[in-house]
Amino acid sequence: MNIRHRFVAGLFPSWIVSKLKEMPTISEALMLASSQLRNSSVPNDLLDAQTLLAHALGKDRTYLIINFNQTLSDEVLKQFQNYIDRRSTREPLQYIVGKQEFFGLDFEVTPDVLIPRPETELIVEETIRLAASLSHPIVIDVGTGSGCIAVSVARELSKAQVVATDISSKALTVAARNAKRNGVEDQIKFVAGDLFQEIPPNLKADFILSNPPYIAASEMPGLQLEVRDWEPKVALTDFGDGLQFYRRLLAEAPDYLQSNGVLIFELGYQQSEQIKALVDRHIWNDPRALQDFQGIDRTMVLSRR
Ligand code: GLN
Repeated sequence: MNIRHRFVAGLFPSWIVSKLKEMPTISEALMLASSQLRNSSVPNDLLDAQTLLAHALGKDRTYLIINFNQTLSDEVLKQFQNYIDRRSTREPLQYIVGKQEFFGLDFEVTPDVLIPRPETELIVEETIRLAASLSHPIVIDVGTGSGCIAVSVARELSKAQVVATDISSKALTVAARNAKRNGVEDQIKFVAGDLFQEIPPNLKADFILSNPPYIAASEMPGLQLEVRDWEPKVALTDFGDGLQFYRRLLAEAPDYLQSNGVLIFELGYQQSEQIKALVDRHIWNDPRALQDFQGIDRTMVLSRR
């Protein structure tokens, strides 16, 4: 069945159908595909259709705009239809194209890893800023997932040595590929384990970074479908109140930090006050919260006394 028969299934006015006598052009295929996505309540239907067609063609989106009248081969159409069908089930765009940009770098993503979010770049920015005075910073990235934090920090700080951990060995496989892809595999050691479980007890880092699973179990049902049904649950939630990993990080990180070492982690919407209340001021200096582009506390910075 070709794209035309799949897409037209009663959805389109006859003037569109009559235009599709032969092979559809880029603009016709985009119109039909975005309509299919819209019918599945996919946000950004046209943009996603463009991204997926560009991916099927091995080109960028600009190519589509310049060549909107070009007809598409059966092979490309079949591939495109497959991508559109997948996106219609609310599979994230990034898992279909297999990548996501983060901190100006390109990361492979699979359903074994959380898709990197722009807010998480705050952790990287703050680390770079604070590391300026250190010649050979030692960094631990706890729950590295795709490796986006570890790889970006290693890229920016060429003298840094990073240990990146994750409980998911499947995630670590992806993270290791991302280190290679970005040319920093010599700076990062990947370790499978729960938080600090496999970190040598004598390792004292300058920075411990983490974007832990912070969604409460009770909030999981209400998430966007792309997140709820596709991203790894173990990366999203602690299956509890959403604060479990902050309790553990605040308790366990001091053993792996230099004095004056810094713990930086991401937090969820409205968790800032609850997390501040968990901080033992005998161990940590006053926490400092950084706001994301929406003005909400997104990142917490704590230095060890
Ligand atoms: N560190 C990764 C990220 O920031 C993974 C985070 C996670 O899986 N919770 O995207």
